[in-house]
Amino acid sequence: MTVSVVLYTSDLRVHDHPPLRAAAHGADEVVPLFVRDPAVARAGFAVPNRLAFLADCLEDLDRSLRERGGRLVVREGDTVSEVRAVVRQTDADEVHMAAGVTAFARRREARLREALEEDGCRLYVHDGVVTVVPPGDVVPQGSDHFAVFTPYHRRWAAEPLRTPFAAPRTLRVPSGPRSEPVPRRSAVPDVSPALLVGGEREGRKRLTSWLAAHLDGYEERHDDLAGDATSRLSPYLHFGALSATEVVHRAAARGGAGADAFVRQLCWRDFHHQVLAARPEAADADYRSRSGRWRTGADAEADLAAWREGRTGYPLVDAAMRQLAHEGWMHNRGRLVTASFLAKTLCVDWREGARHFLGLLVDGDVANNQLNWQWVAGTGTDTRPHRVLNPVAQAKRYDPEGGYVRRWVPELAGLDGPAVHEPWRLTGLDRAAFDYPDPLVDLSEGLARFRRLRVPS
Ligand SMILES: Cc1cc2nc3c(=O)[nH]c(=O)nc-3n(C[C@H](O)[C@H](O)[C@H](O)COP(=O)(O)OP(=O)(O)OC[C@H]3O[C@@H](n4cnc5c(N)ncnc54)[C@H](O)[C@@H]3O)c2cc1C
Repeated sequence: MTVSVVLYTSDLRVHDHPPLRAAAHGADEVVPLFVRDPAVARAGFAVPNRLAFLADCLEDLDRSLRERGGRLVVREGDTVSEVRAVVRQTDADEVHMAAGVTAFARRREARLREALEEDGCRLYVHDGVVTVVPPGDVVPQGSDHFAVFTPYHRRWAAEPLRTPFAAPRTLRVPSGPRSEPVPRRSAVPDVSPALLVGGEREGRKRLTSWLAAHLDGYEERHDDLAGDATSRLSPYLHFGALSATEVVHRAAARGGAGADAFVRQLCWRDFHHQVLAARPEAADADYRSRSGRWRTGADAEADLAAWREGRTGYPLVDAAMRQLAHEGWMHNRGRLVTASFLAKTLCVDWREGARHFLGLLVDGDVANNQLNWQWVAGTGTDTRPHRVLNPVAQAKRYDPEGGYVRRWVPELAGLDGPAVHEPWRLTGLDRAAFDYPDPLVDLSEGLARFRRLRVPS
């Protein structure tokens, strides 16, 4: 009788799951294992929105495994110690898991390898579970990663795409290993009121319906804030409830300009993963150094607080920040505008903004959040690091009728059309009727300050 353990981390699914497939093919019995490791909480990743979504994912995974004759074993404690205990108890000779890219994931992997070696158990770390193209598989000459997106995209698109694996039809799980109860979303306090429901089943449903209804129009509509027509698949991808390879496969099979544009966005996801894999310190340190340009002190603190609360006086910025608080998710255009506003108009350190986002985003991800923040702040991989997004011009372009702002800033709901983007232009009584703050800073003064504080590249 041979036994393999599948250690689940950011890959909470049964479809297109290389570690589960390898274990199911190679062993008589399989232990699907998830460890709730307090080190994850200590590292600041365990925030209410993601814990709630995670609970949905685990519950759904357990259900899928039970439908196949198995179950999910949930343990609480240090990952290495718990895996080791399960291996010893079941006499497993192999552990399969997905390769991670963060420094945290790499340390865990190294510790696990060492511990299992002592027990005579082999660790198999599978590539192509979290990303489509594994970090390091395509590199430019003379470097360990691509620092510019366009040439990366060219090489990425030319890579052969693996055919997604079907979910195993049956599984046998040894009866021995005890399990903690699968966590429940209802037990997680302080969750955003309109947080999406998690889980592979929900993700697959969303993928199917979104591809059918919205993929063709994606190229024209992905920046339409009021239209809200992007896929919202990011949290399912973050938790691995959906396989990025399968999403690319299914989109590409439909073809057309919408599919090309959508697949290109998924390439951005891989791009940031390969940067982080090569430069794990970029989770916190500037990828390109531009020290000395952030404001500090009481004024900067007050500006940061107003930004967090969605009270900057710039309606588009405030709308997006309130969407984040309410849904645990924000439209990509909102993320770009709010991040640029904090880092380049208020000149507050991008790390402050990234921390706030990570505290709320259900898709909050070290690779995508930190490196997108760096991209916007001009410390990252943007080839035009000094560009500043004007929140009023962006609002007029991407929310031309003001529907997005009116949805999220009810104080301004009485203003028709694009006038909602510049409430300070109203005069006298009209203006007094709205309980809405004046702009924190004049945009041209903000721009002058940004130029003053900028360190030339
Ligand atoms: C400051 C900032 C912070 C961000 N933080 C995160 C984060 O923590 N987690 C996260 O998944 N995305 C992050 N993004 C990227 C992007 O905003 C989200 O992936 C996207 O808004 C998710 O919505 P969607 O699934 O509807 O996207 P769609 O437009 O439907 O795109 C499909 C998928 O492509 C990927 N994608 C799209 N744009 C990007 C991008 N710029 N970078 C990387 N992947 C992308 C996502 O996986 C997304 O689900 C951030 C962007 C910015 C500017």
